[in-house]
Amino acid sequence: MAKSKSDSVSIPYPSLEGVSVETLAVRAGQIRTAELEHSEAIFPTSSFVYNSAEQAAARFSGAEPGNIYSRFTNPTVQMFENRIAAMEGAEMAVATSSGMSAILATCVALLQSGDHIVCSRSVFGTTNVLFEKYLGKFGIKTTFVDLTSIAAWESSLTAATKMLFLETPSNPLCEVVDLEKIAQLAARKDLLLVVDNCFCTPVLQKPLELGAHIVIHSATKYLDGQGRCIGGVVCGSEKLMTEVFGFLRSSGVTMSPFNAWVFLKGLETLPIRMRAHCENAQKIAEWLSEQAQIEQVFYAGLPTHPQHSVAAKQQSGFGGVLSFRVKGARAEAFSFINATELFSITANLGDTKSTITHPATTTHGRLSDDAKQQAGITENLIRLSVGIENATDLINDLQRGVNAL
Ligand SMILES: *Cc1c(COP(=O)(O)O)cnc(C)c1O
Repeated sequence: MAKSKSDSVSIPYPSLEGVSVETLAVRAGQIRTAELEHSEAIFPTSSFVYNSAEQAAARFSGAEPGNIYSRFTNPTVQMFENRIAAMEGAEMAVATSSGMSAILATCVALLQSGDHIVCSRSVFGTTNVLFEKYLGKFGIKTTFVDLTSIAAWESSLTAATKMLFLETPSNPLCEVVDLEKIAQLAARKDLLLVVDNCFCTPVLQKPLELGAHIVIHSATKYLDGQGRCIGGVVCGSEKLMTEVFGFLRSSGVTMSPFNAWVFLKGLETLPIRMRAHCENAQKIAEWLSEQAQIEQVFYAGLPTHPQHSVAAKQQSGFGGVLSFRVKGARAEAFSFINATELFSITANLGDTKSTITHPATTTHGRLSDDAKQQAGITENLIRLSVGIENATDLINDLQRGVNAL
């Protein structure tokens, strides 16, 4: 990657051509210093020094690659960028201070006033607010559509449309769109397809291989996986990411070296954690489906899920998030949540610890009643982010919830 390599680091590192995502997760992107440390080093430094005035001039002019200032390049951050880029199959990645700033940087760098976004209705709530309230102020309009209807995406396009934005599976109802089909639409109309791949991670789904142009992550979720740090990343072609990098350099939505180091350590265990999340979520979804007090379970791993076959085609696992409706209304949902002891009552997801959330009053609480209705966020809906504890222990805990109904 062109961005920077300091001459103080050497890279006695094996070729990673053709290796699998599990190997990339542990090994890709490491920059070893002259100390030959085994684990990645943290570089908590704001700036870098030069051997001569000539070298400083060459660095600043771009004639010589290398670090200048940690607002835009830092070796620890670069290791994280190179590792996630390798895992997503991207030419380049740009790390950011949060998932939201990854989305902001992508839009500000690649869109301009007058452009139009078509966005899935079922995206992270703050993404809705960013697009409507803030990008809207600068003349970028957004139309929200049903994620699963390719016809709805197509009929929402205007002459000004530049970007399609989506998450699949969606939060919290686990709807899935056929990424190849939506990528074909994007290619036909010359639009940027941006996929927030937070729920699947590159371990379960690689949108760039299916025709997306950009993949975004909230690294805060599964990439860290242990609920410690806020961060984000944008992955794509060198051409597009150079634009995003330019915005990062000028705006300072920068990831800290310490957070990058935590995410590097998180990535090393990502493949085995994702497998554990998927196995537990599948067992829980099946168990919940058999309970008389549960009205409906939403999880793409269930054969009854309307997009089960699409999910099975484009994902190598169904993920760790699922939701379900209890029989009843808000009171019953609250009773269920309050009866669990192991599950943490929190809106965070993608953690090794299982979490339980009432979307209508938390993550989706800011939506209007109409918008909630359209998105299927009913008062009796509960979302689980299934962790990697023992599945039987988790099911025993959910039994307490069922017993409270
Ligand atoms: C959490 C989340 C975000 C925002 O990420 P932050 O790191 O909290 O800024 C974006 N998209 C999805 C799908 C998320 O779950």
